[in-house]
Amino acid sequence: MADAPTPISAPGGSSPARPDAPMPRPVIELRRIVKTYATGDLEVHALQGVDVVVDPGDFVAIIGASGSGKSTLMNIIGCLDVPTSGRFFLDGVNVQHLDDNQLSKVRNKKIGFIFQSFNLIPRTTALANVELPLAYAGVRRKERRTRAQEALEAVGLSDRGHHMPSELSGGQQQRVAVARALVTSPALLLADEPTGNLDTHSTRDVMQLFAELNQQGRTVVLITHEDEVAGCAKRVIQLRDGRVMSDERHAPVIGPAPILVRGLAEVG
Ligand code: ADP
Ligand code: MG
Repeated sequence: MADAPTPISAPGGSSPARPDAPMPRPVIELRRIVKTYATGDLEVHALQGVDVVVDPGDFVAIIGASGSGKSTLMNIIGCLDVPTSGRFFLDGVNVQHLDDNQLSKVRNKKIGFIFQSFNLIPRTTALANVELPLAYAGVRRKERRTRAQEALEAVGLSDRGHHMPSELSGGQQQRVAVARALVTSPALLLADEPTGNLDTHSTRDVMQLFAELNQQGRTVVLITHEDEVAGCAKRVIQLRDGRVMSDERHAPVIGPAPILVRGLAEVG
Protein backbone atom coordinates (compact mmCIF):
# COMPACT_ATOMS: atom_id res chain seq x y z
CA MET A 1 0.00 0.00 0.00
CA ALA A 2 3.02 2.28 0.29
CA ASP A 3 3.08 4.41 -2.82
CA ALA A 4 6.21 6.18 -3.97
CA PRO A 5 6.96 9.41 -2.14
CA THR A 6 6.57 12.56 -4.19
CA PRO A 7 9.16 15.32 -3.86
CA ILE A 8 7.94 18.16 -1.66
CA SER A 9 8.94 20.73 -4.25
CA ALA A 10 10.14 20.14 -7.76
CA PRO A 11 13.48 21.76 -8.62
CA GLY A 12 12.82 25.12 -10.20
CA GLY A 13 9.16 24.81 -9.23
CA SER A 14 6.84 27.77 -9.47
CA SER A 15 5.92 28.03 -5.80
CA PRO A 16 9.01 29.13 -3.89
CA ALA A 17 8.98 29.04 -0.09
CA ARG A 18 8.04 32.33 1.56
CA PRO A 19 9.82 32.49 4.90
CA ASP A 20 7.97 35.72 5.77
CA ALA A 21 4.58 33.99 5.66
CA PRO A 22 4.75 30.73 7.59
CA MET A 23 1.70 28.52 7.15
CA PRO A 24 0.32 26.89 10.27
CA ARG A 25 1.12 23.19 10.22
CA PRO A 26 -2.18 21.33 9.94
CA VAL A 27 -3.04 18.98 12.76
CA ILE A 28 -4.79 16.74 10.25
CA GLU A 29 -4.11 16.53 6.55
CA LEU A 30 -6.07 13.87 4.69
CA ARG A 31 -5.51 13.65 0.93
CA ARG A 32 -7.63 11.48 -1.35
CA ILE A 33 -8.29 8.98 1.41
CA VAL A 34 -9.86 5.74 0.22
CA LYS A 35 -10.85 2.84 2.44
CA THR A 36 -12.22 -0.34 0.96
CA TYR A 37 -13.22 -3.30 3.07
CA ALA A 38 -13.18 -6.71 1.46
CA THR A 39 -15.77 -9.01 3.00
CA GLY A 40 -15.92 -12.26 1.12
CA ASP A 41 -16.86 -11.48 -2.47
CA LEU A 42 -18.15 -8.04 -1.56
CA GLU A 43 -16.15 -4.85 -1.51
CA VAL A 44 -17.44 -2.08 0.72
CA HIS A 45 -16.27 1.36 -0.31
CA ALA A 46 -16.35 2.98 3.12
CA LEU A 47 -14.35 6.08 2.12
CA GLN A 48 -14.15 7.17 -1.51
CA GLY A 49 -11.61 9.99 -1.70
CA VAL A 50 -11.82 12.18 1.37
CA ASP A 51 -9.86 15.44 1.53
CA VAL A 52 -9.87 17.20 4.87
CA VAL A 53 -7.40 19.64 6.40
CA VAL A 54 -7.78 20.71 10.02
CA ASP A 55 -5.63 23.54 11.32
CA PRO A 56 -4.61 24.03 14.96
CA GLY A 57 -7.33 25.56 17.11
CA ASP A 58 -10.24 24.32 15.02
CA PHE A 59 -13.32 22.64 16.45
CA VAL A 60 -14.79 20.20 13.94
CA ALA A 61 -17.83 17.96 14.07
CA ILE A 62 -18.05 15.09 11.61
CA ILE A 63 -21.64 14.07 10.96
CA GLY A 64 -23.45 11.72 8.63
CA ALA A 65 -26.01 8.94 8.58
CA SER A 66 -25.19 5.48 9.86
CA GLY A 67 -22.87 3.77 7.38
CA SER A 68 -21.58 7.03 5.87
CA GLY A 69 -18.00 6.31 6.96
CA LYS A 70 -17.65 8.29 10.20
CA SER A 71 -16.10 5.51 12.27
CA THR A 72 -13.82 4.48 9.42
CA LEU A 73 -12.55 8.06 9.14
CA MET A 74 -12.19 8.31 12.91
CA ASN A 75 -10.11 5.11 12.98
CA ILE A 76 -7.81 6.47 10.30
CA ILE A 77 -7.41 9.86 11.97
CA GLY A 78 -6.80 8.05 15.26
CA CYS A 79 -4.08 5.87 13.68
CA LEU A 80 -6.10 2.77 14.60
CA ASP A 81 -6.43 1.74 10.96
CA VAL A 82 -4.69 2.59 7.71
CA PRO A 83 -6.29 3.81 4.47
CA THR A 84 -6.35 1.63 1.36
CA SER A 85 -4.87 4.58 -0.50
CA GLY A 86 -4.27 8.27 0.00
CA ARG A 87 -2.02 10.28 2.26
CA PHE A 88 -2.42 11.16 5.91
CA PHE A 89 -0.27 13.53 7.91
CA LEU A 90 -0.93 13.86 11.62
CA ASP A 91 0.61 17.00 13.12
CA GLY A 92 3.19 16.95 10.33
CA VAL A 93 4.05 13.26 10.67
CA ASN A 94 3.44 11.04 7.67
CA VAL A 95 1.93 8.11 9.52
CA GLN A 96 1.65 5.97 6.42
CA HIS A 97 5.07 4.39 6.76
CA LEU A 98 5.04 3.67 10.48
CA ASP A 99 4.86 0.19 11.96
CA ASP A 100 2.41 -0.75 14.74
CA ASN A 101 4.87 0.10 17.47
CA GLN A 102 5.60 3.54 16.03
CA LEU A 103 1.90 4.14 15.44
CA SER A 104 1.04 3.49 19.06
CA LYS A 105 3.73 5.96 20.11
CA VAL A 106 2.31 8.60 17.77
CA ARG A 107 -1.17 7.91 19.11
CA ASN A 108 -0.05 8.30 22.70
CA LYS A 109 1.85 11.50 21.99
CA LYS A 110 -0.42 13.34 19.60
CA ILE A 111 -3.99 12.24 20.27
CA GLY A 112 -6.26 12.35 23.28
CA PHE A 113 -9.14 9.92 22.71
CA ILE A 114 -12.61 10.31 24.14
CA PHE A 115 -15.10 7.47 23.65
CA GLN A 116 -18.84 7.13 23.88
CA SER A 117 -18.58 4.66 26.76
CA PHE A 118 -15.93 6.67 28.67
CA ASN A 119 -13.62 3.61 28.90
CA LEU A 120 -12.49 4.38 32.43
CA ILE A 121 -10.88 1.60 34.42
CA PRO A 122 -13.31 0.51 37.13
CA ARG A 123 -12.20 0.24 40.77
CA THR A 124 -9.46 2.73 40.00
CA THR A 125 -9.72 6.32 41.17
CA ALA A 126 -10.42 9.18 38.79
CA LEU A 127 -6.94 10.53 39.48
CA ALA A 128 -5.25 7.19 38.66
CA ASN A 129 -7.33 6.93 35.47
CA VAL A 130 -6.13 10.35 34.35
CA GLU A 131 -2.52 9.47 35.22
CA LEU A 132 -2.51 6.37 33.04
CA PRO A 133 -1.42 7.90 29.70
CA LEU A 134 1.44 9.61 31.51
CA ALA A 135 2.53 6.27 32.96
CA TYR A 136 2.60 4.83 29.43
CA ALA A 137 4.64 7.84 28.35
CA GLY A 138 7.18 7.15 31.10
CA VAL A 139 6.49 10.27 33.17
CA ARG A 140 7.67 10.01 36.78
CA ARG A 141 5.17 9.38 39.55
CA LYS A 142 5.31 12.77 41.23
CA GLU A 143 4.91 14.72 38.00
CA ARG A 144 2.14 12.35 36.94
CA ARG A 145 0.19 13.15 40.05
CA THR A 146 0.60 16.90 39.61
CA ARG A 147 -0.38 16.92 35.96
CA ALA A 148 -3.36 14.61 36.52
CA GLN A 149 -4.55 16.89 39.31
CA GLU A 150 -4.26 19.90 36.97
CA ALA A 151 -6.19 18.10 34.24
CA LEU A 152 -8.98 17.21 36.66
CA GLU A 153 -9.09 20.83 37.72
CA ALA A 154 -9.35 21.84 34.07
CA VAL A 155 -12.54 19.80 33.73
CA GLY A 156 -13.97 21.08 37.01
CA LEU A 157 -13.46 17.89 39.00
CA SER A 158 -10.52 18.67 41.27
CA ASP A 159 -12.54 17.49 44.27
CA ARG A 160 -13.39 14.11 42.74
CA GLY A 161 -9.91 12.71 42.21
CA HIS A 162 -10.29 9.97 44.78
CA HIS A 163 -13.69 8.81 43.63
CA MET A 164 -14.16 5.61 41.69
CA PRO A 165 -15.87 5.90 38.28
CA SER A 166 -18.95 4.11 39.70
CA GLU A 167 -19.31 6.92 42.24
CA LEU A 168 -19.57 9.55 39.51
CA SER A 169 -22.44 10.51 37.21
CA GLY A 170 -22.18 9.80 33.48
CA GLY A 171 -21.35 13.42 32.76
CA GLN A 172 -18.65 13.41 35.43
CA GLN A 173 -17.19 10.17 34.11
CA GLN A 174 -16.96 11.69 30.65
CA ARG A 175 -15.24 14.73 32.13
CA VAL A 176 -12.69 12.42 33.76
CA ALA A 177 -12.19 10.83 30.35
CA VAL A 178 -11.63 14.29 28.86
CA ALA A 179 -9.08 15.02 31.59
CA ARG A 180 -7.32 11.76 30.71
CA ALA A 181 -7.34 12.79 27.05
CA LEU A 182 -5.78 16.18 27.64
CA VAL A 183 -3.26 15.28 30.36
CA THR A 184 -0.55 14.56 27.78
CA SER A 185 -1.17 17.92 26.02
CA PRO A 186 -1.91 16.20 22.70
CA ALA A 187 -2.12 18.06 19.39
CA LEU A 188 -5.63 16.70 18.90
CA LEU A 189 -8.61 15.79 21.05
CA LEU A 190 -10.49 13.13 19.10
CA ALA A 191 -13.93 12.14 20.34
CA ASP A 192 -16.22 9.41 19.02
CA GLU A 193 -19.87 10.09 19.92
CA PRO A 194 -18.77 11.60 23.25
CA THR A 195 -22.35 12.37 24.29
CA GLY A 196 -23.91 9.16 23.00
CA ASN A 197 -24.41 7.78 26.51
CA LEU A 198 -25.37 11.04 28.21
CA ASP A 199 -28.67 12.71 29.06
CA THR A 200 -29.50 16.19 27.77
CA HIS A 201 -28.10 18.00 30.77
CA SER A 202 -24.78 16.12 30.77
CA THR A 203 -24.55 16.51 27.00
CA ARG A 204 -24.68 20.30 27.36
CA ASP A 205 -22.18 20.10 30.18
CA VAL A 206 -19.66 18.07 28.17
CA MET A 207 -20.14 20.21 25.04
CA GLN A 208 -19.51 23.36 27.05
CA LEU A 209 -16.33 21.74 28.26
CA PHE A 210 -15.21 21.05 24.68
CA ALA A 211 -16.06 24.65 23.73
CA GLU A 212 -13.94 25.89 26.62
CA LEU A 213 -11.00 23.63 25.79
CA ASN A 214 -11.20 24.83 22.20
CA GLN A 215 -11.28 28.44 23.32
CA GLN A 216 -8.07 27.68 25.24
CA GLY A 217 -6.53 26.73 21.89
CA ARG A 218 -7.01 22.98 21.81
CA THR A 219 -7.93 21.34 18.51
CA VAL A 220 -11.08 19.24 18.78
CA VAL A 221 -12.53 16.77 16.28
CA LEU A 222 -15.64 14.89 17.27
CA ILE A 223 -17.96 12.49 15.60
CA THR A 224 -21.65 12.69 16.29
CA HIS A 225 -25.01 11.94 14.76
CA GLU A 226 -26.76 14.55 16.93
CA ASP A 227 -27.37 17.89 15.21
CA GLU A 228 -27.42 19.70 18.53
CA VAL A 229 -23.96 18.40 19.37
CA ALA A 230 -22.62 19.27 15.92
CA GLY A 231 -24.02 22.78 16.39
CA CYS A 232 -21.52 23.31 19.21
CA ALA A 233 -18.59 23.03 16.80
CA LYS A 234 -17.19 25.83 14.65
CA ARG A 235 -17.08 23.67 11.55
CA VAL A 236 -19.29 20.81 10.44
CA ILE A 237 -18.19 18.21 7.91
CA GLN A 238 -20.95 16.02 6.56
CA LEU A 239 -20.16 12.60 5.12
CA ARG A 240 -22.39 10.70 2.77
CA ASP A 241 -21.50 7.35 1.24
CA GLY A 242 -17.84 7.82 2.09
CA ARG A 243 -17.54 11.30 0.59
CA VAL A 244 -17.50 14.80 2.02
CA MET A 245 -20.93 16.22 1.17
CA SER A 246 -20.44 19.58 2.81
CA ASP A 247 -17.82 21.34 4.92
CA GLU A 248 -19.10 24.53 6.52
CA ARG A 249 -18.19 27.01 9.20
CA HIS A 250 -20.79 28.59 11.41
CA ALA A 251 -21.18 30.37 14.73
CA PRO A 252 -21.33 27.78 17.50
CA VAL A 253 -24.65 27.69 19.35
CA ILE A 254 -23.08 26.94 22.70
CA GLY A 255 -20.47 28.88 24.64
CA PRO A 256 -17.92 27.84 27.20
CA ALA A 257 -19.17 27.24 30.73
CA PRO A 258 -18.17 30.17 32.95
CA ILE A 259 -17.78 27.85 35.94
CA LEU A 260 -14.88 26.07 34.26
CA VAL A 261 -12.90 29.06 33.05
CA ARG A 262 -10.72 29.48 36.12
CA GLY A 263 -9.29 25.97 36.27
CA LEU A 264 -8.66 25.76 32.54
CA ALA A 265 -6.44 28.79 32.40
CA GLU A 266 -3.97 26.99 34.65
CA VAL A 267 -3.41 23.95 32.47
CA GLY A 268 -0.59 24.27 29.95
P1 ADP B 1 -20.57 5.10 10.30
O1 ADP B 1 -19.63 5.14 11.46
O2 ADP B 1 -20.82 6.42 9.66
O3 ADP B 1 -21.85 4.40 10.67
P2 ADP B 1 -18.72 3.16 9.22
O4 ADP B 1 -17.44 3.84 8.99
O5 ADP B 1 -18.84 2.34 10.45
O6 ADP B 1 -19.91 4.23 9.15
O7 ADP B 1 -19.06 2.23 7.99
C1 ADP B 1 -18.99 2.66 6.64
C2 ADP B 1 -19.26 1.45 5.75
O8 ADP B 1 -18.21 0.52 5.86
C3 ADP B 1 -20.54 0.70 6.11
O9 ADP B 1 -21.12 0.24 4.93
C4 ADP B 1 -20.04 -0.44 6.96
O10 ADP B 1 -20.92 -1.53 6.88
C5 ADP B 1 -18.70 -0.73 6.32
N1 ADP B 1 -17.73 -1.27 7.29
C6 ADP B 1 -17.25 -0.64 8.39
N2 ADP B 1 -16.32 -1.38 9.01
C7 ADP B 1 -16.20 -2.52 8.29
C8 ADP B 1 -15.39 -3.70 8.40
N3 ADP B 1 -14.51 -3.85 9.40
N4 ADP B 1 -15.53 -4.64 7.46
C9 ADP B 1 -16.42 -4.49 6.45
N5 ADP B 1 -17.20 -3.43 6.27
C10 ADP B 1 -17.09 -2.43 7.18
MG1 MG C 1 -19.94 4.57 13.44
